[in-house]
Amino acid sequence: MAVSGLVVLKLKTRGSSENGNGVLSMNKERYGEKSRNKSTWSDIVGTCNKIEQLGVPLNNLMVRKICRGTQTSFWMDNLLNNLGPLKDCFPRLFALERYKNCLVADRWVLEEGEWQGKWAWTRQPSGRADGDLTKLVTELNGLTLDESQDDRWEWNLTASRKFTVASLCRAIHSRLNANDVSAPPFNWNSWVPRKVNVCAWRVALDRLPTMLNVCQRGINIPTSVCLFCGLYDEYRDHCLFLCPKVKVVWLKFWRWWKVCARFSLSDILKGNFNFTKDKWTTKLFHVVCLSLIWYVWKWRNKILHTSSDEEVSSAQQEDIFPAIQRLSLLWTSNRASKCRFSWCHWIRAPGEVAVL
Ligand SMILES: [Zn+2]
Repeated sequence: MAVSGLVVLKLKTRGSSENGNGVLSMNKERYGEKSRNKSTWSDIVGTCNKIEQLGVPLNNLMVRKICRGTQTSFWMDNLLNNLGPLKDCFPRLFALERYKNCLVADRWVLEEGEWQGKWAWTRQPSGRADGDLTKLVTELNGLTLDESQDDRWEWNLTASRKFTVASLCRAIHSRLNANDVSAPPFNWNSWVPRKVNVCAWRVALDRLPTMLNVCQRGINIPTSVCLFCGLYDEYRDHCLFLCPKVKVVWLKFWRWWKVCARFSLSDILKGNFNFTKDKWTTKLFHVVCLSLIWYVWKWRNKILHTSSDEEVSSAQQEDIFPAIQRLSLLWTSNRASKCRFSWCHWIRAPGEVAVL
């Protein structure tokens, strides 16, 4: 599976000057399910289908970037994200096309300072076909060609827009983990507000709109890199747990609670801890974990929505740890009726807070 998948993706990312997205669909038709004998192409198509069935939309992740417009077929290739080839979207117009293999640059031209359609019909579209033509032009509106660059394939899951096996593996793993229903991925904690529980629940299901998740939904965003470090793609585990900037916060937390053990994100969400002396302390430790996750996501969104570079850099430098200590104390002291907290005690020995 891995080898054949790699072959098709490499082929697609390298870009076919003639076929564009049609590579896959053409070979699906030619060698796909109808083929009786196993062939390399049927393996490839089968692998792509399996990946799609997992919920990783391969065809949406691989986007044709139109620049010069001379290497992409106007009707056969998937020019517009998620729409599919124009011949399938507008069959009436395709039937009227005089040159079925025409290129984007043949049909979309700059005339009198405006990008517009330059059509070659066997007869002028009328009735419903005329309505289709209006829709087609609306879809193409905003498309401008760039003579200086070749048309190319872009991979949505990396900042460089180049395909990597690692990025696809991560996408598949995160989808597989999200589909695993054998154990509840998260335990609700009644000592934190509902919004914090909901956030952690979405983390457990990998439903937060991280850059990677947004890309996987086929939405075009300028960059997929982590907003904290700018070094790696932003996926759930990196953003909340593995990013060097976020790790510093977790390390402060471990030191504060004098914890030597290392937990996975999954243990943290479930509240699976084996170092605490009783379940009361376990629940308290879980409170801080969930507060930390919630606050890191809030911090990340603050960086995302800043308007200037200065604000981004100042938000990135922020030390969020004191706020996490403060909020987790506030929330627990308001909700856990059997205990009383003092700030000094909380900071010095959080695991030994008195139970009354
Ligand atoms: Zn990072």
